[in-house]
This record gives sequence, structure tokens and C-alpha cells, in this order.
Amino acid sequence: MRPKVAVFGGTFNPIHHGHLRLALDLVQQLGFDQMLLVPCHIPMHREDPSVASQRRARMVELAVASSPTLKLDTRELKRGSVSYSLDTLAELRQEQGREASISLIMGMDAYLGLPRWHRWLELLKYGHIVVISRPGYVMPEDGELAAFDREHRADAKVLEQAVAGRVVHLDIRALAISATEIRTLTAAGLSTRYLLPETVRRYIAEHGLYAARAPETTDKS
Ligand code: ATP
Repeated sequence: MRPKVAVFGGTFNPIHHGHLRLALDLVQQLGFDQMLLVPCHIPMHREDPSVASQRRARMVELAVASSPTLKLDTRELKRGSVSYSLDTLAELRQEQGREASISLIMGMDAYLGLPRWHRWLELLKYGHIVVISRPGYVMPEDGELAAFDREHRADAKVLEQAVAGRVVHLDIRALAISATEIRTLTAAGLSTRYLLPETVRRYIAEHGLYAARAPETTDKS
């Protein structure tokens, strides 16, 4: 059987049980051998995260410490420039070889913005895209993304059959947790217990992250 690798990128500011449970559901349902969690260094399409990439990566590391398949991948931090998924996929293709099936995982919220990504049409040269539905986000019926989606859409079996080139949509349970909610609760001095791993919750408290009074420096400063 060909190796199946998944790449799940995000700001992870902070990582939470919504991300982690999704990653595990995908491993179990689609049989990925590895699920790489890739914190972005400097995101292209949103404001700079309030917390430096090294700290966001450390929280991912703490969150997946005991998992055999979920792994922190720091390549976007090491690159030190604006984070492009295309570079990440191209590097992985180089490392994994021609036989590996590679999938870039993203929520529907992220997929809707895909036409603004750097050289987005080339992503499928290096891997598949797996789109997870998220409440409140629906595919448009017209436009370039709709046309791209119609042309490349396939069902999940394609991840075994081909190494790259298709878009798979999955209607998988997503926990209603967002990093925004965790930051807001923390800034208000309220508990975030049960929304994220305890190790990450403690790290946030120890370093005073997201507290209203102590803004972190950003990656660009
Ligand atoms: P924020 O609230 O800061 O926007 P977020 O919780 O959405 O953050 P990101 O790091 O921006 O987290 O998300 C990375 C990826 O994880 C995106 O593709 C997003 O769609 C997906 N994602 C985020 N939260 C969930 C969730 N609860 N369930 C499933 N997928 C999620």
C-alpha cells in the first residue's frame, strides 16, 4: 500500500481539541500513516498572530506529545519567510517520493479563500486537497473556485488510487471550538478548561499568553 501523509496547516493560536479531534478522525477514517501539523510562521491571508510562531509550535508539540501519528512539523518556521502551502507541499513531495499520497487538509472556511493563495492552481501538482465542512460555510455555485472544485472533485477512495491532483470533501464532525473563543475567554480571565489539552492550557497560563494586559510581540517585529 502506498504511504499516505496528511498536512494540516494553521495558525494554531492556540491549538485546541477542535483541531486535534479532527486530525484523529481523519487518521482513523482515511488511514493516514502520518498527520503533520504545520504551524505557519507569517500567514499570508490574515493578520499576524498575536503569539510568536515558536510559541504556537511549542503548544502543538505539547498537544501531540503522546500521539503516534500526529506530529509537529516546523518547516514553515525554519523557512523564516511568509508561509506558502505550495512550498510546504513541494518540499514534502521531494522528501516522500513519487509514490506517496499527500493530502493538504483544510476547513471549508479556508477553502473558500483558496483563490487568494500563492499559485493556488499548482497545489494539486504536489498533493490532494481534503476539505472539511464547517458550520456556516458553503461552496459558492459560480466563480473560479466552483469551477476548480467541479473539475477536480473525487471521493475519498482516490487517496489510495492517486498520489495528487484531486479535491475530496468530507462531512466530518467538527467540534464547535475556535482559537478566537479561547483567546477571548483568556483575555476576560475566564477558564478555557476542556476546550484544549491541559498541557497547552498550562503553557498559556505560565507565559501569560492572550492576557488582555500583556500583548505578545509578533513574528514580524
Ligand atoms: P481562529 O479562531 O483564530 O480563526 P481557528 O480555531 O479557526 O482559529 P486555525 O489555526 O485558524 O484555527 O485553523 C487551522 C485549520 O483548522 C483551518 O483549516 C480551520 O478550518 C480548521 N479548524 C479550526 N477549528 C476547527 C474545528 N473546531 N474543527 C475542525 N476544523 C477546525
